[in-house]
Amino acid sequence: MSLVETVKQAGVIGCGGAGFPTHVKIDTKADVVIANGAECEPLLNSDQRVMEHYADELVEGLCMIMRQVGAARGIIGLKKAYHGSIEAVSKRIDGIDGVEIGVLGNFYPSGDEQILLTELTGRIVPEGGIPPMVNAVVSNVLTMVQVARATKGQNVTHREVTLVGEVKKPKVVVTAIGTPVRDLLNLAMPAIPIEDIVVIDGGPMMGKIVPLDATVNKTTSGLIFLSKDHPLIQWWTIPMSAMVRRSAAACCQCRDCTEACSRYMQGHDIQPHLMMRSLAYQTDEPTKGMTAAFLCSQCGLCEFACPMNLSPRRAYAELAAKFRAGGMKNPHHNAPTKVHEFNQYRKIGKDRLIRRYQLTDYDTHSLTLTPIPDPPLVRLSLTQAFGAPSEPVVNPGDSVECGQLIAKAPEGKLGAGLHASIGGRVTAVDSDYITIEGAR
Ligand code: SF4
Ligand code: SF4
Repeated sequence: MSLVETVKQAGVIGCGGAGFPTHVKIDTKADVVIANGAECEPLLNSDQRVMEHYADELVEGLCMIMRQVGAARGIIGLKKAYHGSIEAVSKRIDGIDGVEIGVLGNFYPSGDEQILLTELTGRIVPEGGIPPMVNAVVSNVLTMVQVARATKGQNVTHREVTLVGEVKKPKVVVTAIGTPVRDLLNLAMPAIPIEDIVVIDGGPMMGKIVPLDATVNKTTSGLIFLSKDHPLIQWWTIPMSAMVRRSAAACCQCRDCTEACSRYMQGHDIQPHLMMRSLAYQTDEPTKGMTAAFLCSQCGLCEFACPMNLSPRRAYAELAAKFRAGGMKNPHHNAPTKVHEFNQYRKIGKDRLIRRYQLTDYDTHSLTLTPIPDPPLVRLSLTQAFGAPSEPVVNPGDSVECGQLIAKAPEGKLGAGLHASIGGRVTAVDSDYITIEGAR
């Protein structure tokens, strides 16, 4: 069986971002493959532990993808501060032709695949484009480990998740996909009353607030538990309507958002201050500044830079959703050949983000990787992968084994399959989830 088919059958999707199906990503040609271990979001440790503990499988998966796409060069991109990862990976790549380590500074968002690619190869992805357009494939380090495991018959059932924030025992756990967030919070021991806790799935820059009854997905790299009074939570929960009113009243057109914008620094024609101006004037026709919403990566650096506490990022998210719902396609396709002249001077250190968002108390650099017992119940989302939902192939009452296919990739559409992450009995199947109770 081809690697593409093997990876598809194992249900591998991108572990570090939007969950793009890996079998589609590697079904291409490229001359370089990059393993993304930059892990630039503050507080997250999962990818570092993956590189330290699974360096063999990481390099194995990278070499398999290199052969699949025809690449002679493979780069493992990580930060110079990740000493344990560098040591583990260096030992493993010693003597392997074409595979090297690419060391990055401690800035955000170095883990953005387009920025990582530019930093390590000098290539710039065109506006609205993807890495194969510049002959490259970029994939998260855990995804590459899962590719190696797929060739040994292991389907995706578990993943590494950082647990951090208002907990007494922060750690990185290896947990079953579908584990309830509440179970993991209890495991990490809440440091404040549970009713005061708000959960962020992902990092503090690009994650999203989820309820306590949410469950771990294949893309859940971390769960950050903060008090509902924490400034970051207060900020995230300002309604968009209030944010728009604030923008109209308070944006002073200082351009700080544009000068900090990670995509503007890539040479892309996105200038959030222009969009904020249009927002203030409440223009009906979408201006060029507004349609640049299609180029926004949602990195959040514009928010960080804004002296008036405004959020061009959220405005762009709303605009992009509105344009897509109206059937508009990205009209921006410039292909810059060089980055902004001040790019190297405008890098924002992760430490600055941690201080600015008052996360210093939770910044633990070397969390231990801890396997944990499987939970008594898992709820597996059918919409974990980018694309169409997975299609259930089990019914309530069915017995399943860990690793068994429970939902297949959608026929003829972008998507991925899903496997039971514990053995037991299927107790519910609906349009969103499959629930399994463990065998007692
Ligand atoms: S940084 Fe803030 S105040 Fe300045 S232009 Fe951008 S949104 Fe307006
Ligand atoms: S979130 Fe802000 S800084 Fe990031 S790409 Fe979008 S506009 Fe630029």
